[in-house]
Amino acid sequence: MGKNDILFERAQKTIPGGVNSPVRAFRQVGGTPRFVTRAKGPYFWDADDKRYIDLIMSWGPMIAGHAHPEVVAAVQKAAETSFSYGAPTEGEIELAERICQLVPSIEQVRMVSSGTEATMSALRLARGYTGRDLIIKFEGCYHGHADSLLVKAGSGLLTFADSTQNAPSSGGVPQDLVKHTLVLPYNDVAALEEVFKKQGNEVAAVIIEPIAGNMNLIQPSKIFLATLRDLTTQYGSVLIYDEVMTGFRVALGGAQSLQGIVPDLTCLGKVMGGGMPMAAFGGKKAIMSKLAPLGNVYQAGTLSGNPVAVAAGLKNLEIISREGFFEYLTGQTTKLMTGLKQAADESGVPFSVDSVGGMFGFYFTDKVPTSFEEVTKTNIEAFKKFFHLMLDQGVYLAPSAYEAGFTSIAHDNAIVDDIIRAARTSFKSL
Ligand code: PMP
Repeated sequence: MGKNDILFERAQKTIPGGVNSPVRAFRQVGGTPRFVTRAKGPYFWDADDKRYIDLIMSWGPMIAGHAHPEVVAAVQKAAETSFSYGAPTEGEIELAERICQLVPSIEQVRMVSSGTEATMSALRLARGYTGRDLIIKFEGCYHGHADSLLVKAGSGLLTFADSTQNAPSSGGVPQDLVKHTLVLPYNDVAALEEVFKKQGNEVAAVIIEPIAGNMNLIQPSKIFLATLRDLTTQYGSVLIYDEVMTGFRVALGGAQSLQGIVPDLTCLGKVMGGGMPMAAFGGKKAIMSKLAPLGNVYQAGTLSGNPVAVAAGLKNLEIISREGFFEYLTGQTTKLMTGLKQAADESGVPFSVDSVGGMFGFYFTDKVPTSFEEVTKTNIEAFKKFFHLMLDQGVYLAPSAYEAGFTSIAHDNAIVDDIIRAARTSFKSL
């Protein structure tokens, strides 16, 4: 029994399932979660001191690599003057200004401590602004664990819940509440048009992952996005881009900058905090000014705009704004995915890949899926075997076929080659 096993047994006594977030428990792939002791650049080490190349990077935030010296220094400096004041600071203004500059659809922004808070608050704001109740989300998209968003949701819910029913995908969520959430298939233009024709005037908001990453990586079609923007404008519904995952990750300006879509509200998280609990939502001033203390939509947080998290976020955004950052990151990610595909082809394994910036997906099927339904038809058994073969060789993939993967600028050519070498061996023994 290794140290990870011992820790896992011990953890399960005092922490439900032994983990503080469900996907970490390795339920889909089986086996023992790795307990991390330290990380640096593209690597982390587990309790047995085994080294892994990390392809999750804390589920997105660590885009500059683990423990980047400049981010560490910024955090240390901020920590010396206390961790939290519960009063405003200049750093928050700087971070807000930086966000508004990098994502021009955001005229004003409010900081929170998690992606869940960002989406939950954005929805409340959209409902308060429009005076309507109904929201639309898409099947397989995950927007955090607020009650009204846990319907046919992606990420861990796809492993843990029965998502086939049009019901809450979690216990403890009232049917009464969920009746205000309509779920449509991703990339289905006709379904969107039909709902708006019937009920457009009741729709407060449509929330979408503009590049989905919680049912593996799924890209939207141009026509789907254009229809979404047109209909929400026409019916006065708020279009919420949930860029908690894609923001500052697929491009400096997020998915919206690649797609040429201007959403009304945007949710951010992950990269903007550089690994600290930090997220935000923002958008049109006319909508944001409905928030307390200006307006009647309440939203607050003891640790919101936390100075240590702000310092990490500011430094992280500075690093990713440097010339050539996204070109390099995108190039390395593409190189990695091309290598994986080639290795699979050599062994005759049906396999396909996709990536945008520093976010990627791979699928045990011939064609890149375009919807949740197609993702569920990929070969999950092959994925599970592949996951463990890679893990044994020191490559840490997301422990679920329903999650995207993430790279960082620390994933240089040598690292990419190491991963591809491990993949070649793994595909051969599948
Ligand atoms: N929205 C999206 C698109 C996400 O990927 C996530 C988390 N993976 C969230 C919201 C929720 O963020 P958090 O886990 O920080 O609450």
